[in-house]
Formats: sequence, C-alpha cells, structure tokens
Amino acid sequence: MHPVWLLDLDNTLHDAAAVVFPRINRAMTDFVVARLGVPEQQANELRQFYWQRYGATMLGLVRHHAIDAHDFLHATHPFPDIHRLVRRDQRLAQALRRLPGRKVIVTNAPAKYARGVIKALGIGAFLDDVISIESMRFAGRFQPKPSRPMLRRLAARLRVPRARCVLVEDSLENLISAHRVGMRTVHVTGVASGVGKMARKARSGSDRRVGLQVQSVTLLARRRLRSAHLSP
Ligand SMILES: [Mg+2]
Repeated sequence: MHPVWLLDLDNTLHDAAAVVFPRINRAMTDFVVARLGVPEQQANELRQFYWQRYGATMLGLVRHHAIDAHDFLHATHPFPDIHRLVRRDQRLAQALRRLPGRKVIVTNAPAKYARGVIKALGIGAFLDDVISIESMRFAGRFQPKPSRPMLRRLAARLRVPRARCVLVEDSLENLISAHRVGMRTVHVTGVASGVGKMARKARSGSDRRVGLQVQSVTLLARRRLRSAHLSP
C-alpha cells in the first residue's frame, strides 16, 4: 500500500521566506492597526501574544475581538501577483508525478492563496486534494496545524489509517503533532531561504520523532530512499 502524502505548502514546496512571508507579516500588522485601532508596536505585541498562545494570530483575533476569519484571511494574503513571486518548478512537478500514492496539500493558508501558489508552481495536475485553513474549522472554531484533533479528523476524512499518512513539512512543531497521532513524518529542511545550515541543524536536532530529513521534496521520488525510511 502506498502512503498518503500530506504535503505542507509554504517553505516545504516553495520558498515563502524571502518575499511572501514578509508581505503577509506586514499585512497582518496593518490589519490589526486598522481594525483594532492600536499603534503599530501594540499591534505587533498582540500578534506575537496570540501567535504564542493559539499558534495563529487569527485565532486570537476571532476569539477576543470578534474579527471575521474570512476578512482576516483575505486582507492578509494580498497576492494578485503570486505567479511572479513563485516560479514554476519542473523538478518538483516531475517528482510529484513520480511519487506513488495520493498527494494532499495540507496548509494553514487560505484556499485562494494556496490555489495561486499551486498554479504558479505548475503542480496542480499531480495533487489529489487541497486542504486549506477554511476546512480546519470544527467544534465551532478553527483548529489548524499543529492541532492533533484536526490531524485525526483529516485521516478519517481521507478514509486512511493514520499510520499510512506521511506529513511532509518544514515545521518541527507540526511534525511532532503528526508523530503523536501516529502518522509518519518527513522534515523538509532546505527550502526556506535565509535559514543557514547550522540553524537548521540546531532547530531539528536529532529529534527521533521526526523520521526522515530531506533537503527537498524532490528527493522523495527516489524509491530507494522511500523504501529505506518509509516502508510500512
Ligand atoms: Mg510550512
């Protein structure tokens, strides 16, 4: 049986660190300043606080300031030019085409942005599904990665045992959650720009909960590597 690949998008399939994330950051601060009527420094502190407390700025704004999540997602992902920021990646497309098993994008980003990135990368034809943050709402609230209940629900929704799911991600925190619900994991370390080798090593350490580390998703197309590390 082939695995079901749960693929993160930003900093896993493309480099979002250089241009995309700084712009999202800027837009989030502007949004908090405008909607909450607070100075920039306070907006940044509030964002930081909610990010630490809930794992996402949006969750704090929805819960404590009656902000509409869709307004927030729309305003903080201003990317009409995404096709110019994300380059078509032939090697990635070929690797996904060759990778056996279902491939599902699982991203905490909104659907419209995710679709734009997927189109720009030229990988849409090799994906079976896209799960964006809009689909991670249940029990009355958004529960994005690293929510363990969300990961369990996701596997159930895909009708696949969790042990057959492989989460492929740059975020160690998300990978640890996946490991804790019984999924397998691949840590992608070489995509985000501005992260030095030493920093990557320090960040990932030799965490046994993270099964396999690769520089790039393209390496997963190698059968020998998969059979050595990911065979059930
Ligand atoms: Mg990521």
